[in-house]
Amino acid sequence: MAIALVTGGSRGIGRATALLLAKAGYTVAVNYHHNIVAANEVVNAIASGGGRALALRADIGDEAQVMAMFSALDREPEPLAALVNNAGILFAQSTLENLSAARINQVLNTNVTDYFLCCREAVRRMSFRHGGSGGAIVNVSSAASRLGAPGEYVDYAASKGAVDSLTRGLSLEVAAQGIRVNAVRPGLIYTDIHASGGEPGRVDRVAASLPMGRGGQPEEVAQAIAWLLSDGASYVTGSFIELAGGK
Ligand code: NAP
Repeated sequence: MAIALVTGGSRGIGRATALLLAKAGYTVAVNYHHNIVAANEVVNAIASGGGRALALRADIGDEAQVMAMFSALDREPEPLAALVNNAGILFAQSTLENLSAARINQVLNTNVTDYFLCCREAVRRMSFRHGGSGGAIVNVSSAASRLGAPGEYVDYAASKGAVDSLTRGLSLEVAAQGIRVNAVRPGLIYTDIHASGGEPGRVDRVAASLPMGRGGQPEEVAQAIAWLLSDGASYVTGSFIELAGGK
């Protein structure tokens, strides 16, 4: 069929998305940074379900590594038809007055610059102008782009605000090039990312205050991503799906 690249496909929301896209018939390129065991587990799970997948190591905050990853995809027999910009980071909960330039820049580099770079490489391969057959991109933003994450990680929230602007702007740039660009904005989802913020149990702490009274599962986000990539969403571009339990 065609390739779907999921950045940060080894764990959390990316893992659930990779597994679901394999069921939809894609060959899934599972990008990861450090955790090869987790990436191989996803690839093996897809293979044992009758699907096809490959693990691709790349720090997507590094342009040379992004280029090498896309070059590896060019050597595959199938074309790239879908990109899920999912890999993202945050650091320990902190007020803005205590943020360092080094931390802010690292968050912006991974969460914003890498989304731009992966979008650029995908557009160069998918767009009619470049001889491609079109495709679809889903950017994983966050409800934090609306809520601001005060006292926790305003730097992270701002990076997701930039992802929202990227989504809107690029969707208009490539609408006539056969490429749809959309985003999902998850709220509190049960993944390892909260441990990076210094509070592994954050979802359970906040869950009761959410309108739906619970946190979300990675599979619930994956369903929205898979739909945005599918032909069922063929007239949807520049759109955002909120997956935040009503918040
Ligand atoms: P996670 O469980 O921490 O997983 C992060 C994934 O990203 C891992 O596969 C990791 O690879 C990969 N990754 C991190 N930095 C990378 C880099 N520089 N290069 C390549 N891969 C990298 O995170 P998650 O919660 O699933 O989050 C996925 C996305 O959803 C992020 O963009 C996040 O901001 C967004 N989101 C999450 C929530 C939530 O509540 N969980 C809410 C809103 C938005 P390794 O395994 O190799 O480290």
